[in-house]
Amino acid sequence: MEQEIMQEVIQHFRFPEHLKEEIPYGSGHINDTFRLTFEGETGKPRRFILQRMNKEIFLRPVELMENIVGVTTWLRGKIISNGGDPERETLNLVPAADGNCYYRDSAGDYWRAYLFIEDAVCYNQVEKPEDFYESALAFGHFQRLLADYPAKTLHETIKDFHNTEERFLKLQKAVREDVCKRADKVKDEIAFALSRESLAHTLCRMQKNGELPLRVTHNDTKLNNIMMDRATGKGICVIDLDTVMPGLAVNDFGDSIRFGASTGAEDERDLSKIWCSLELFEAYTKGFLEGCGGSLTHEEICMLPDGAITMTYECGIRFLTDYLSGDTYFKTHREGQNLDRCRTQFKLVADMEQKKQQMYEIIANYANIKQHKCFKTNL
Ligand code: ATP
Ligand code: MG
Ligand code: MG
Repeated sequence: MEQEIMQEVIQHFRFPEHLKEEIPYGSGHINDTFRLTFEGETGKPRRFILQRMNKEIFLRPVELMENIVGVTTWLRGKIISNGGDPERETLNLVPAADGNCYYRDSAGDYWRAYLFIEDAVCYNQVEKPEDFYESALAFGHFQRLLADYPAKTLHETIKDFHNTEERFLKLQKAVREDVCKRADKVKDEIAFALSRESLAHTLCRMQKNGELPLRVTHNDTKLNNIMMDRATGKGICVIDLDTVMPGLAVNDFGDSIRFGASTGAEDERDLSKIWCSLELFEAYTKGFLEGCGGSLTHEEICMLPDGAITMTYECGIRFLTDYLSGDTYFKTHREGQNLDRCRTQFKLVADMEQKKQQMYEIIANYANIKQHKCFKTNL
């Protein structure tokens, strides 16, 4: 059955004629990814990525694809006018036979295809600060190339994704309802979250009143969503554009720090192993600011540490909400895993709060601004 579907799908894209190989590919967790190799006209094989989109997560596949078309077409134009290589520095969709950028198969699944980016790799884990720096540079560059894109025209494919106020309300509701009678066990965590309610409001308010501009955001700024050149190790292309949406640049920055600058696993039980590494924070900040190349506003630069704290806080309250609600959203593999995840996030929040001044100093250094001027609202 699967094989028949594959054949049906492959026929419906504008691929070359002779398929030589088709293999499951990469280590993505969301979509089903395959690499296809065809015989090229000149004898050199031509490769493509084919993906079946996850229909449980992406409920609006056509809107999602419209976002990807909008952003990749824009990036292609910018890369060409900068003298870059548009086949390596952005994703390139392969059209389906009917001219659409996706194909809906007879089982109702949506598929899309990209040119395969050759001679590039992606890493699952930050092994050294330089890798983290490279990913920051690439995400910053992505931000710069899209700085004048009309972000408002993008669909909000996952509603309220970083609406921290909404997430806070959901936590309060879960505490009130306490369906699993777990609230008593986690009084400290609930108190931690509730005492920091202002974190849920600050960035949302600044977005609403226009103090922070709406940007094209990636929303899954992990290391393995950057392809690195195999020979030079340099970040060349931002991939995995499923969650591209209008949002805040500081949130993309913040989520990278939350995940990438932590010294331990997200569900580590020994909290003494968890803190925010300033060395990694610095590597990312340097790369991100360099990549953004002056496209961020003064307010955005000033609010980068708040982005890191808020994203970590938001993630923590989501884990706590899920724990209180009976672990219905995030997959768990052991008892209490969501609570452990919540604790690591809150430990990071507390640690980042302590380190905010040092973060400002790092940012001021790379953004080349006088600290007192930049951060007067925060100090
Ligand atoms: P995630 O778990 O990060 O959400 P996903 O299921 O959404 O992953 P992708 O990140 O889009 O899937 O792709 C999975 C992997 O396939 C990537 O990590 C990368 O190794 C590879 N890949 C994706 N697109 C390309 C491409 N155009 N060229 C080469 N390799 C690619
Ligand atoms: Mg990915
Ligand atoms: Mg993905």
